[in-house]
Amino acid sequence: MSRLASSLDRLESHYDVVVVGSGYGGGVAASRLARAGKRVAVLERGREFVTGEFPARFPDLRAELQLTGKRLRLGSPTGLYDVRFGEDMHVLIGCGLGGGSLINAGVALRPDPRVFRDPVWPDEIRADGLIDEGYARAARWVRPARDETAAERNKYRALASAGVALGKAPVQAPVVVSFAPTVNPAGVAQPACTRCGDCCGGCNVGAKNTVALTYLPDAARHGAEIFTHAKVRHVARAPEGGWRVGFERQDAVALGSTKPGTLTADVVVLAAGTLGSTEILLRSREQGLALSDRLGQRFSANGDIIAFGYGAKLPVDAIGVGHPPKVEGLDVGACVSGQIEIVDEQDLANSLTIQEGVLPSALAPILPALFIPNGRLLGALKSLIAGVYKGPFASLQTFFAVSHDTASGRLVLEDDRIALAWPGAKDEPVYRRLDVALEALVRQAGGSYVKNPLAGTMMGQQPATAHPLGGCGMGRERGEGVVNHKCQVFDASPGAGAADVHDGLYVIDGAIMPRSLGVNPLLTITALAERAMLHLARDRGLAFDAAPRTYTTPISPMAPGRA
Ligand SMILES: Cc1cc2nc3c(=O)[nH]c(=O)nc-3n(C[C@H](O)[C@H](O)[C@H](O)COP(=O)(O)OP(=O)(O)OC[C@H]3O[C@@H](n4cnc5c(N)ncnc54)[C@H](O)[C@@H]3O)c2cc1C
Ligand code: SF4
Repeated sequence: MSRLASSLDRLESHYDVVVVGSGYGGGVAASRLARAGKRVAVLERGREFVTGEFPARFPDLRAELQLTGKRLRLGSPTGLYDVRFGEDMHVLIGCGLGGGSLINAGVALRPDPRVFRDPVWPDEIRADGLIDEGYARAARWVRPARDETAAERNKYRALASAGVALGKAPVQAPVVVSFAPTVNPAGVAQPACTRCGDCCGGCNVGAKNTVALTYLPDAARHGAEIFTHAKVRHVARAPEGGWRVGFERQDAVALGSTKPGTLTADVVVLAAGTLGSTEILLRSREQGLALSDRLGQRFSANGDIIAFGYGAKLPVDAIGVGHPPKVEGLDVGACVSGQIEIVDEQDLANSLTIQEGVLPSALAPILPALFIPNGRLLGALKSLIAGVYKGPFASLQTFFAVSHDTASGRLVLEDDRIALAWPGAKDEPVYRRLDVALEALVRQAGGSYVKNPLAGTMMGQQPATAHPLGGCGMGRERGEGVVNHKCQVFDASPGAGAADVHDGLYVIDGAIMPRSLGVNPLLTITALAERAMLHLARDRGLAFDAAPRTYTTPISPMAPGRA
């Protein structure tokens, strides 16, 4: 696929719409508003990765790590894997054109209906029926599918055998993966999944239905201009009307400096993810934009953890082989094929989902160092990649678990950077519940439960999440939330009514969730984004259709020159 992004030198000074960030929320907004005939610019802080360019070896993966902590800043600011070390909790997010979709496991689930019955959501979410239309549209574009052969995988069988401990059989997990060759709704020809397991490293086959292969090419086909290396810092009302967007050119970082830039737009959609959009609004408020006091509050980790079972009796084969495969003859499967669902009909908070996961092949060489005591020494001896596939790591179980927390984290600006404060995070009841369930599974499999192989390193004992939510949560008025049910940002200017909004300013991403979802969030973020676009179109007299297009010449997802 030729690149979607243009050089920032071609950025113009004004657009109808500026979309900040290019994950699920940004992709939907860019596609729909470009289809409505608007001049759209997408500003993404990270780089563009075309299929075939995702890290395949550990040194490549290490080069894509950016680590940020209170007094720490390591790696490139455009590194694909963005790890934020917090005093109370760590967060992993994606950085690149396509956002978290580039490195996620692609599990696409709709939450328990009780989640939306929580009165924390504005009433319209339940009442106007558009949430169902949002899910239907989201499903047509990201296309969740079940791998019909999932139960044949060793990792699925291992989960089934361990599940006896909980009295639960696994079910196939829907993932946004093309298991057969297809031309997708954006006209991109996607090959079939090779079941290489590398989804969380980045799909080098082009089979994962990322935002970069769906909504973004659709936006580009309808005229949206896409720019990478543009990190937005703040937004402010433009004196002439509309919005001024201030950004930093990250392409200049490599040359030792950042270069500021500004542009204006009639409409700004902040879709920079939970941390990114909240940070932009916190900074904008410092510079005078009147926003709700709720900004930064109700951060949720979605009760999400990753944990491991080491030493299981059955083979698991849950280390990716990558593409092209690093070893032959291993049928790993997509990153997640099966899950155990535990539904508590009495108390939603106790419901949880446990998925079997796969570690990306680029991590294979460092697994001995991570899991074996004194492993740094042993790791040097054992790091032959084939050893990892054949030795004890062939029975390493990786679990992704999702549930509910109390959404009591708070995002703040510290030294001009976003930071998470959640002093009681590690004592949230969800972690104990998950530990009990996972320990039982691992014991049944004959292994030892490894909650965090990096405990004792700079990771400490804090929990970590890859599902950050909240910070700009929805509410009925600004005393309750930061955005309304249409994702419009509440205006807290003196004299403004409690439900008044800033005309033309939206947040459309994971930040708008006022609570945990209890399932992996991508489908709900996409659905609420599709819903917000329906409202935006009605409010502004726009029309677009969201139907897949048929193109005479499908685009290949591969980087030019790669097969
Ligand atoms: C390893 C991993 C596995 C996961 N697995 C699953 C899964 O199986 N299923 C699921 O549902 N979810 C999963 N998730 C979570 C899911 O990917 C995220 O919830 C989702 O991507 C969030 O979408 P978003 O639109 O809110 O923002 P994002 O996808 O985070 O996109 C935001 C974009 O904005 C950019 N940005 C940030 N700040 C700025 C700025 N200042 N200026 C310009 N651009 C900016 C970012 O670089 C990013 O590209 C996983 C996440 C990870 C990390
Ligand atoms: S298993 Fe491999 S080919 Fe299939 S979606 Fe994941 S990374 Fe792509």
